[in-house]
Amino acid sequence: MDFSFTREQSEIKTAAREFARGEFTPELADECERNHRFPRELFRKAAELGFVGLNLPETVGGSGLGVFENALVIEEFCKADSGLGMALHLAYLPAKMVKLFGTDAQHQRFLRPLAEGRWVSAVAFTEPDHGSDLTSMNTTLVDDGDGVVLNGTKVFTTNATYADFVVVLAQDDPGARPGRGMTAVLVETDPSSWLGGRLEINELGHKMGLHMTSSGELVFHDLRVPKANILGEKGRGLDVVLGFLDESRIEIAAQSVGNCEGALLKALDYSRRRQQFGRAIIEFQSIGHKVARMWSQVHSAKLMTYYAAWRKDHETAVTAEVTPLFTSMVKHYAPETAKAVIDDAINVFGGYGYFLEQDVERRYRDNRIAEIYEGTVEVQLNNMARLLKKVNLEFVDQTLL
Ligand SMILES: Cc1cc2nc3c(=O)[nH]c(=O)nc-3n(C[C@H](O)[C@H](O)[C@H](O)COP(=O)(O)OP(=O)(O)OC[C@H]3O[C@@H](n4cnc5c(N)ncnc54)[C@H](O)[C@@H]3O)c2cc1C
Repeated sequence: MDFSFTREQSEIKTAAREFARGEFTPELADECERNHRFPRELFRKAAELGFVGLNLPETVGGSGLGVFENALVIEEFCKADSGLGMALHLAYLPAKMVKLFGTDAQHQRFLRPLAEGRWVSAVAFTEPDHGSDLTSMNTTLVDDGDGVVLNGTKVFTTNATYADFVVVLAQDDPGARPGRGMTAVLVETDPSSWLGGRLEINELGHKMGLHMTSSGELVFHDLRVPKANILGEKGRGLDVVLGFLDESRIEIAAQSVGNCEGALLKALDYSRRRQQFGRAIIEFQSIGHKVARMWSQVHSAKLMTYYAAWRKDHETAVTAEVTPLFTSMVKHYAPETAKAVIDDAINVFGGYGYFLEQDVERRYRDNRIAEIYEGTVEVQLNNMARLLKKVNLEFVDQTLL
């Protein structure tokens, strides 16, 4: 076993760290946070340097690398700043669905402008009555000649107000059994791409964190888009979603790894400098132990996430069966661990930790969503328990443990 990065991975991680150090200034973060603004110019710069297209095919200007390399970049971005890091990643994460299930024509149409930083992507599964339960949708998709017509409402769509395209999950067969009869379809937000009807986009109210992204409601009013925009097989939309989540959940875990690494760095620095009772507070055993425990927690989440990413990139037909055991593992563990680490970092800062300037309270607020989106902690544990109930014990013994 070799724990070292390849030379390329090491260079990617260093480049991401240097980019973030230079560009993720406290002033920019503060301005975007206060104005609830997506840093589109920063997204463009990140794309120009190849970070956005790292995991996309070379045919669309990407680098064709894996989930592992993506995770390294996300970690560095979120380590530097939770808000900016998460906003940038969430702008290109949904495009992964096009990479995994799109045709060559869809790759060119949707992924190329994204890899160049000109387009932002979004994904709309969640509806008012369908959150954790994605086995059927109220949003309908009806065949209409060379188009399909969408009606319904989606909520909580990240990037809603500035995304250039949205992957929408809709019900094409209302009589189908749970999990069937749904189709994923690509919807461009530019009205000139529509064949009829309209799409209404409303920003939702104030949220706890993630202020540098929009969270919106999408209302489809007989919106007609080209049939060629169907993503994957018609009627197999849930397969598109699940295939996406197997990769994306690892990258969400990488957000949390970066979020808590940044908090640890700040707490460590502060605990060495802050003097009380004539000594640095890290000299008090309670603070020293706290920082030491944070160190262990950060590494447990980090190594687990690297392992899940590595497994995904080395997946075979046999190991694919148990992939959710590892993606769900890190999707619940890393966000929960990061929450505990960042909470402790706030304590290390004392009263100052409660104020915006230290940037640890924002990390807490930003990180909190990682426990919820792309499936809640409870949903991840359900996924794991479902597999653990039936997976062959000999296989577990010989191959997984
Ligand atoms: C800031 C933000 C950004 C988001 N971005 C997007 C996006 O871009 N696209 C998108 O489609 N969605 C997005 N979401 C939606 C998110 O994925 C859902 O909120 C999440 O999946 C939970 O759905 P829900 O809110 O309807 O809660 P519910 O499903 O109603 O769950 C409520 C509670 O019940 C629990 N629960 C539900 N079912 C079970 C079960 N079977 N077993 C045990 N516990 C259960 C849940 O864990 C939770 O604690 C976003 C949400 C937020 C807040």
